[in-house]
Amino acid sequence: MPGSSDSPRYRRRHLREREPDCPLCGRRVPFCWSCRCGFRLCQACMHENFWTLSCNGITWVCPDCGQQNGLGNQ
Ligand SMILES: [Zn+2]
Ligand SMILES: [Zn+2]
Repeated sequence: MPGSSDSPRYRRRHLREREPDCPLCGRRVPFCWSCRCGFRLCQACMHENFWTLSCNGITWVCPDCGQQNGLGNQ
């Protein structure tokens, strides 16, 4: 988890990580696929665009930067 190196005295309770919202469908989802460039999409959008984004079922290609990202466990 990021931020664990911060002093525990300054734990920011009010900055609790909010659930991500998918920029494609606008829904708030419990999980988003994300690229290092900042592009995100939810599981439903990934499923919808699976054949566009993934050519082999192992990686998906970010439409923004063209980087390959792993599907499932790394
Ligand atoms: Zn979505
Ligand atoms: Zn990207």
